[in-house]
Amino acid sequence: MLVLLVSSAQNPPMENENIWSQFADINVWIFDLDNTLYPAHCNLFAQIDKKMGEFVSDFLQVEHAEAKAIQKQYFHEFGTTLNGLMSRHDLKPDDFLHFVHDIDVSNLERADKLSAALDQLEGRKIIFTNGSEAHASNVSRQLGIDHHFDDIFDIKKSNFVPKPEMAVYEQLIEELDINPKKSVLFEDMAKNLKPAHDLGMTTVWIPNDEHWSHETSDGDHIHHIAEDLSEWLHALLEDRAAL
Ligand SMILES: [Mg+2]
Repeated sequence: MLVLLVSSAQNPPMENENIWSQFADINVWIFDLDNTLYPAHCNLFAQIDKKMGEFVSDFLQVEHAEAKAIQKQYFHEFGTTLNGLMSRHDLKPDDFLHFVHDIDVSNLERADKLSAALDQLEGRKIIFTNGSEAHASNVSRQLGIDHHFDDIFDIKKSNFVPKPEMAVYEQLIEELDINPKKSVLFEDMAKNLKPAHDLGMTTVWIPNDEHWSHETSDGDHIHHIAEDLSEWLHALLEDRAAL
């Protein structure tokens, strides 16, 4: 078999050793939703991004270009556009969440291979998202993987405080009775893995081409890199079987 080894300054060499021993004690598997449970190239998030711009434009009565600038500014300053609108303009969060998550998911293909991997992982599975529960349900149902998840911890549950605020991770652990040392978080945004690591969780980064995926991606808070979540999980299961 020809193995192509690709390495860059950012990515460590491909993992060749059996890594199952690092996951043998895991009893809670935690997954971000957008650009994690489905690949970034599906462009689903682009629809949400566009709707956020429309919402900001309408809500603040500004032109499209200015709305986009405000959207991005709040995303960086407050962690989410929603948080910025709530802090600065007293927005009612439900109006925003309903509008931006009302998207067409019909182009999203069923994730049968991912589903098969999730099926073989023992323990609880949780979706941990800065989006809404309705969005997480809608997307995971379309992917055909919704039945695997025991809980969805969404932005409402955290009182609209987004990842990577440490308080959100602490609340997740507390409310869902998670032992962080026996849990793993899968995420496309590297910076969202930092608090998880600091609490003792195992971390797996699913990078994409967007610059915000790579923010804070250097450091020891990233334990593993999965270019393709489904393939990575199947490789992990092969490691389990090989022991
Ligand atoms: Mg994401």
